[in-house]
Amino acid sequence: MSRKPLRLAILEAERVLAGAGVASPRVDAELLAAHVVGVPRGKLMLHPLVDTNVLDALRKLVDRRAAREPLQHLLGTAVLGPVEVAVGPGVFTPRPETELLLEWGLREIADVTAPVVVDLCTGTGALAIAVAASRPDAVVHAVELDPAALTWAHRNIADHVAAGGTAVKLHAADVRGPDLLVELETHVDLVLCNPPYVPDGASLPPEVTGWDPPTALYGGPDGLEIIRAVISASAALLRYGGALAIEHDDTHGESVPALMRRRRVLTDVEEHHDLAGRPRFATARRRPL
Ligand code: GLN
Repeated sequence: MSRKPLRLAILEAERVLAGAGVASPRVDAELLAAHVVGVPRGKLMLHPLVDTNVLDALRKLVDRRAAREPLQHLLGTAVLGPVEVAVGPGVFTPRPETELLLEWGLREIADVTAPVVVDLCTGTGALAIAVAASRPDAVVHAVELDPAALTWAHRNIADHVAAGGTAVKLHAADVRGPDLLVELETHVDLVLCNPPYVPDGASLPPEVTGWDPPTALYGGPDGLEIIRAVISASAALLRYGGALAIEHDDTHGESVPALMRRRRVLTDVEEHHDLAGRPRFATARRRPL
């Protein structure tokens, strides 16, 4: 079988992806190449020549990426902080911007032994599993409503446990329902949440609209429907001094902190920006007695 320089195939892939309007054509080309060669991205240059079947496989993936299928769907995995989770049809792909919320949450529980942590709207389970991986002593609960997403979360939690990680307790529940996790009321050290928050009708890139389930994206006419429910549920779940972090739309940098401030039991409300400088998540603590 004939062999060709991988470097040229990556350049060609980058050109195709750039032409299709993909935001990071070079990185995507390298990650897809690493995936088909079966090595980490940093080891690609150890494979100067590749077989035509590798090139064919790469070309197929590049064409799908050029048609704006999300990179994570093509790789089958998404990374959030210290963990990699399986993703695919029917579940929201974790985004890098959520890592800052994760880091904030981990700092909040740094001095708490065996903290109780709740991840609402868990989707793939990524946030919950990332907490469990970072803090094996934590008791982590994850809540999800959508049956397809629950299947992914189940699988990712099982993989994490099979790799020696501590278990995450998965609950099939609606965060808008009454008595959410009533058994944990006033005992939770940290609530994390990346809810559906896009205002209905807002425009999103093709990677998002074509692939992420609408139920994971849209949060009602103003995008705040689930966030209101999450603030209410958290006010009941948190122990005194317990912390809450909610990701939100970049148009909600004032409205989400305002919703938090309206709750008398919440204090220390702060707004945080993502690495691109956009308003991205709001935090609060339950008022100590
Ligand atoms: N930030 C995401 C996007 O723009 C939406 C995330 C969400 O609804 N949780 O695609």
